[in-house]
Amino acid sequence: MTAQLIDGNALAKRIREDVAARVRALAARGTVPGLAVLLVGDDPASQVYVKHKVADCEGAGMRSLLERHPATLAEADLLARIRALNADPAVHGILVQLPLPPHIDAQRVIETISPAKDVDGFTVASAGALTIGRPGFRPCTPYGCMQMLASIGCDPRGRHAVVIGRSNIVGKPMAMMLLHAHSTVTLCHSRTRDLAAVTRQAEILVVAAGRLALVGAEHVAEGAVVVDVGVHRVEDRATVERLFPGNAKKLAAFASRGAVLAGDVDFTAVAPRAGRITPVPGGVGPLTIAMLMANAVRAARRRRGV
Ligand code: NAP
Repeated sequence: MTAQLIDGNALAKRIREDVAARVRALAARGTVPGLAVLLVGDDPASQVYVKHKVADCEGAGMRSLLERHPATLAEADLLARIRALNADPAVHGILVQLPLPPHIDAQRVIETISPAKDVDGFTVASAGALTIGRPGFRPCTPYGCMQMLASIGCDPRGRHAVVIGRSNIVGKPMAMMLLHAHSTVTLCHSRTRDLAAVTRQAEILVVAAGRLALVGAEHVAEGAVVVDVGVHRVEDRATVERLFPGNAKKLAAFASRGAVLAGDVDFTAVAPRAGRITPVPGGVGPLTIAMLMANAVRAARRRRGV
């Protein structure tokens, strides 16, 4: 058996179309959803992420405001910008691209964002709302993973779901969302003993460890649904050949671009065991931005009271 792929691109497209329809409806009533994106410094990956977020929001008819600041920006000045955006009625969502330069306290910055505009779902208020099951903005990546499960008809209810990774932006909210969806949840991390023994119990396995190809066939039960959140740029040929043996498409991509993307799951090893699996790229990645857009539209609708 080889797992059926979960197509993140197709699902993200459907969500973006739904968002665009909601944006049109809001615009007809005089509100164009506005998203402010703040980028501090010149981290190359952040530049790419921000560019995509802005382009996708504008593609759906939203207004975006991209603010680029130098890496030397003082924390107090960043906080002042956020307070101004909190008070700006044309801005419905505020996103500060992470990571921030080391002299800036990221959590203090996040906490300055009004919970009503916290479209990343990273404030303590949003995390608390998720934990106690109250309405609020959900962190986009795990929220996208939940949409993905729904899209393949995988009801988490009563299933054993295992999440690898306990970050505040992916692992913990993922576990909480699965718990609210009535899974029995196990949350693993770097101190988990015998990771493979735990993950083999998973009917749903979500991997967000930030370790290239951490999860192999020995970690996965036959027929499990495997969601790979990790993204890695693999720049050496030997690793590409090891991870994708005989995969002419990957090798051609590497030859033309000098790198390929891969996940926390060793796709070649795991796909023959899993029931369903997300590819990297084209899996979770596209959904993160789609859910950001969904959150931004929701922020605008809430302000309008619709
Ligand atoms: P993170 O903050 O570095 O957290 C990684 C987590 O994995 C930690 O909780 C860590 O445990 C755990 N971990 C690390 N090595 C492990 C191991 N060998 N065994 C078990 N657990 C281990 O990372 P993150 O921000 O959550 O992101 C995770 C991955 O997802 C990264 O590759 C990131 O690039 C990717 N990502 C993708 C998207 C997307 O849109 N596709 C969005 C966000 C993140 P400890 O807590 O014990 O250290």
